[in-house]
Amino acid sequence: MATALITGITGQDGFYLTDLLIRKGYKVIGLRRKTSSDQANIFSKYGKNIEFIYGDLLDTFSLAEAIKKHQPDEIYNLASQSYPGESWRLAIETGEITGLGAHRLFEAARHIKPDCRVYQASSSEMFGDPKQVPQNESTPFNPMNPYAASKVYAHNLAQIYRKSYNMFISCGILFNHESPHRGMHFLTQKVTYGAACAKLGIKNSTVLNEVGEPMVKDGKIALGNLDSKRDWGYAADYTEAMWLMLQQKQAEDFVIGTGQARTIKQFCEEAFSFVGLKWEDYVMVDQRFVRPTETGPTIADASRARNILGWKPNTSFTEMVGVMVNNHLNKLKTQL
Ligand code: NAP
Repeated sequence: MATALITGITGQDGFYLTDLLIRKGYKVIGLRRKTSSDQANIFSKYGKNIEFIYGDLLDTFSLAEAIKKHQPDEIYNLASQSYPGESWRLAIETGEITGLGAHRLFEAARHIKPDCRVYQASSSEMFGDPKQVPQNESTPFNPMNPYAASKVYAHNLAQIYRKSYNMFISCGILFNHESPHRGMHFLTQKVTYGAACAKLGIKNSTVLNEVGEPMVKDGKIALGNLDSKRDWGYAADYTEAMWLMLQQKQAEDFVIGTGQARTIKQFCEEAFSFVGLKWEDYVMVDQRFVRPTETGPTIADASRARNILGWKPNTSFTEMVGVMVNNHLNKLKTQL
C-alpha cells in the first residue's frame, strides 16, 4: 500500500485529494496544525486508511519527524497562507508559510526521503499581470501580491531541488478552483452564500467576512473589483491532476485550468440567476476589498496537461456554481 503525506489536509484541496487517494488504495497521512479546525467528522469514514500527525510548515523539525515516521512515497504540499487578497496584511506570515514553508519541506524530504515524489501547489497568481494570454508553462511570472511572490519563490526552489538533487518535485500551476469546501472568505463563497441568503430572505448573516462584518449586511454582499477576470474550475477535477503529475516518468510542471475566463460580474450573474434573482440588487463594491494591484486576466492554456497527463476538467462552470449555491441553501435552511 502506497503512503501519501498531505500538508494542508484540512483545506479544500486536502479534502478532495484525500478522498481520491483513499479510493485509489493509498494510506493517507494528514499533517495538521494544533490549531487546525477539527475535521474528524469529515474524515471518520476512512477509518484506518487515514492518520493525522501534528506539524507546521513553520517548523522544519515537525516536517522531518512526519517524513521520518511515515516514510511517504508521495508528499502533496497543499498547505499555505492561501488568501492572495489577505497577503498584503499578512505579508511576512505569507512569505514564511507559503514560500519558506515549502522550502523547509523540500529540505526535510531531501535529507530524510530523497526518493519520495513531491507535489508543490503553485498558482496562476504567479502570472500576476500576465505577459501573455492565455498562460502556459513557459509564460514568465509577474507576481502582483505577496502571496504570488511567495509561490514563485517556492516554485523556483522546487525546480532548483529537482535539478540540483535529482528529486522528483512537480509543480501544478493551478488556476482558481472552487467547491463547497472553499474557505468562506474567498470571492466565490461570498457570492454563492450571498445568493443563498438572498433567496431565503436573510438580510444580515451570522457568517462574517474578513473585516469582521456580516458577510451579508442589509441584504448585500461587499466585493472588490467586479471586472477582474478569472479562469474558474471545480476542485475535485483539479486534485485528480495533482495525482496524475506524480505518476509520470519524470517530474515536470503543468498548468491546470479550464481555458475559459469570466469576470466577477459574470460569476455573480450565474449565482444569483440560479436562485432566480438579479445580482445587481444584492452586490455592492467596497473599496476595502479592491486589491492595491490587480492580477489578471489569468486564463489557462492547459494543453500540455491534456496531451501528457490526459487531464481535462469534467465539471462545467454552471454545475460548479449550482453545487456551491445549493450547499449554502441546504445548510442555511437547517438554521432557519
Ligand atoms: P485552503 O483551503 O486555504 O487550505 C490551506 C491549508 O493550509 C489548510 O489546511 C491550513 O490548515 C494549512 N496551513 C496553513 N498554514 C499552515 C502552516 N503554517 N502549517 C501547516 N499547514 C498550514 O487552500 P486550498 O484551496 O485547499 O489550496 C491548496 C493549495 O493550493 C494552497 O497552497 C493554495 O495556495 C494553492 N492553490 C489554490 C488554488 C485555489 O484556487 N484553491 C489555486 C492555486 C493554488 P489550518 O486548518 O490549520 O488553517
